[in-house]
Amino acid sequence: MQDAEYALRKEIIDTCRKMNALGINQGTSGNVSARWEKGMLVTPSGIDYDSIAPDDIVYMKMDGSYDHPLVPSSEWRFHRDILKKRKDVNAVVHAHPTYCTAISMTGRDIPAVHYMIAAAGGPTVRCARYETFGTEELSHNAVKALRGRMCCLLGNHGMIACGVTLKKALWLANELETLARQYTVALQLGAALNVLPDDEIEVVVEKFKTYGPRPKSSAA
Ligand code: 13P
Ligand code: ZN
Repeated sequence: MQDAEYALRKEIIDTCRKMNALGINQGTSGNVSARWEKGMLVTPSGIDYDSIAPDDIVYMKMDGSYDHPLVPSSEWRFHRDILKKRKDVNAVVHAHPTYCTAISMTGRDIPAVHYMIAAAGGPTVRCARYETFGTEELSHNAVKALRGRMCCLLGNHGMIACGVTLKKALWLANELETLARQYTVALQLGAALNVLPDDEIEVVVEKFKTYGPRPKSSAA
């Protein structure tokens, strides 16, 4: 195995462990994938993230075939379909964080109640319609909910966050759960919520492209 492949397998395991340490996933639920060569590396199904080893990560080709003693995540279809259809995505994190999942139980999208929604890529985080876990139908609904976005909710299930890197996908998963928590608390206040206009979210999406530590000379 190449050093780069081994390093990516280790990074997938790290991402799973961090996901649980951040409190955004429950036990062995959730799964993680990353683009590799002509396919993807994906977590095996039902695995305990504390005892998983780099060799346990399954390499799967884009046609769904694999040659590995362990069964890949039951959600390999949406991981494969997202990586296949979205050239801007190299990593996918799926989890069942409490607040995202609670909102997904109402079937509603998250509106632009905070400017951080721009991290999702637009003024809403859509909620994909419920389908049984692991099915082609769920994958279809997830890909649809992700159109123009880097994350979505999965009805009565959880969420998906994508990224150019595993680090970015995990970061977005945590940001999405924070937004979901803030939205849930705000709803409990019982007052009407101010929703930011679409054009303001467009401004923030643009601003985020250059946000972050950088030399003073490049500051706007
Ligand atoms: P796996 O353990 O098969 O990855 O599935 C967990 C899950 O979250 C299913 O939606
Ligand atoms: Zn799940």
